[in-house]
Amino acid sequence: MEAGLISGLILAGGRGSRMGNVDKGLQPFRSSTMVEHVLARLRPQVGPLAISANRNLDTYRAFNAPVLTDEMADFPGPLAGLEMGLRHCTTPYLLTVPCDSPFLPLDLAARLFAALQEHDADVAYAATQEAGMLVQPHPVFCLVRADRLPVLSAYLAQGGRRVDGWYRDLKAVEVVFDDADAFRNINTLDELRGLEQPAFPASLAQVASCINGYDPNALPVRDAQRIIREFVQPVRAVEMVALRASLGRVLARDLVSPINVPAHDNSAMDGYALRGADLPLDGVATFKVVDIVYAGKPSTVVPGAGECVRIMTGGVMPAGCDSVLPQEFADSGDDVAMTVRAGAIRAGDNRRLAGEDLNIGSAALKAGRIIRPADLGLCASLGFAEIPVQRRLRVAFFSTGDELRSIGEPLGEGCVYDSNRYTIYGMLQRLGCEIIDMGVVRDNPEALEDALRTACENADAIITSGGVSVGAADYTKQVMAQLGDVTFWKVGMRPGRPLAFGRVTSNGRSAFLFGLPGNPVAVMVSFYFFARDALLQMMGANAPLPLLQARSSEAIRKKPGRTEYQRGIITRGADGTPEVRLTGAQGSGILRSMSEANCMVVLHDEQGSVAAGDMVDILPFEGLF
Ligand code: AMP
Ligand code: MG
Repeated sequence: MEAGLISGLILAGGRGSRMGNVDKGLQPFRSSTMVEHVLARLRPQVGPLAISANRNLDTYRAFNAPVLTDEMADFPGPLAGLEMGLRHCTTPYLLTVPCDSPFLPLDLAARLFAALQEHDADVAYAATQEAGMLVQPHPVFCLVRADRLPVLSAYLAQGGRRVDGWYRDLKAVEVVFDDADAFRNINTLDELRGLEQPAFPASLAQVASCINGYDPNALPVRDAQRIIREFVQPVRAVEMVALRASLGRVLARDLVSPINVPAHDNSAMDGYALRGADLPLDGVATFKVVDIVYAGKPSTVVPGAGECVRIMTGGVMPAGCDSVLPQEFADSGDDVAMTVRAGAIRAGDNRRLAGEDLNIGSAALKAGRIIRPADLGLCASLGFAEIPVQRRLRVAFFSTGDELRSIGEPLGEGCVYDSNRYTIYGMLQRLGCEIIDMGVVRDNPEALEDALRTACENADAIITSGGVSVGAADYTKQVMAQLGDVTFWKVGMRPGRPLAFGRVTSNGRSAFLFGLPGNPVAVMVSFYFFARDALLQMMGANAPLPLLQARSSEAIRKKPGRTEYQRGIITRGADGTPEVRLTGAQGSGILRSMSEANCMVVLHDEQGSVAAGDMVDILPFEGLF
């Protein structure tokens, strides 16, 4: 009965950036589209119904609901849609739901309306609580008094963007629903496909409990790596890109060869195609030339005994012929006759077999591969114009610290320029991530929370530097812990040691978090040995780092019980084997050691001091694409 008082608004105007900029609402889902599932569940609950969308307007109009487009050109967030919805709302209340929530509760409007009435509130929004977890608000599922539009407009005009920010000064009630799955929104194409599987099966505590003698304050590198590996989830969303654009991207599916390459047996040389059985056992034999075959112009002539065909490299082998005599191996030859000596070639020589490069039906390239130049050529040889690749991983990053100045700013007393953002930028760029540089964030809880939330709502992963050690002004840990399942480790390594890892959540969006240490070398080492693998795993890529060995030209002091990453320069030793020396001062703040190095010397946990001449593991930097 309240339905007539409430208009419904489906928020479908987002960029769908986590799905590779697809229009989320129009994604196929259970034999229709996401937005149609939302429509079906929402229609019975409301009176007039509209869709807020910014793309594919004609498709949305076909669903028999007015389509409202945003007027805020620079801001695609849900509040822009809400504002348009309220402006066009002809009933006292407006209910919004996102287009990617195909399981929304059938009593959503009724329960929000009841709460609004009961508390005489301006806004009622849904929330869920799972056993042992904090209440999780879902502010995009919200019932609003339509006459509160001016409050929203003022908030937006002041630059406010937070979906739950605009009603701070209004009366808002939270309505807790039992069924968390009903509010499940779908962020990736893979989630869309595999909804049966829970998105995040484990908590960090569960994963860590599988480690023998787990101690967060003395965690071996390999245990930290294992926990990270078991906790992160791939983001699998597939997009088709033009062949050239696939360079450096992660192949999303096996590429099965639709043809044999080459398609036919063909000649590897310019010469004469013949039947190997006709070759002379001794002396010489003369063949009659019955046709000429050029590459791309096959012959229909079938040579008989004592006959041959002149053939060019790449020419299709005539029927019955299995061997090619290169023209320079002939005693004499022209377009009429050819004479060959015994032993000039063997039967079967100089013939390329159909499918010897790529066999029809076989996987030419495996999913997870990062596409390299040779692969572009391989794909072209199969005739593929478009390649299925994983969408780029979105990674947000920022530096923390009151002492940090950005380049361009004057460097005050006791300050340093923020270099970590540049090394992190470089490392992420090399991995092919889509990056969101959020600048320097001050050591202040509000600023940190805001930055983390924004990062979380816009990215798949967040990388921060600084603030995870025990420093007094470091609020980073406290804020990170508030926003999700985050653990703080002291890893048995040098440089490095403090590391935060986990998953943070804000407004129903979650992102994996890597809180790296602040020291410039430590941040790079931690990135390469913890974040890199995890990011690749999220990208669906299979690109392990192979450690090679080199002879140490000097003695290196090292205590067993921690992993050390020294910066080295590798050269070819006098006897030809690779030789490595260190780059001098190895302090974790000395970035020059990293810049001068061309490899990292990896001294493992159990390893003690190295004598000059000992073999050590190294990781060449050139392997880090
Ligand atoms: P923290 O982990 O925040 O205690 O930082 C450790 C050290 O790294 C301090 O000397 C910081 O000044 C330095 N540091 C932190 N972040 C950065 C950065 N982004 N660029 C350069 N140095 C940094
Ligand atoms: Mg700091």
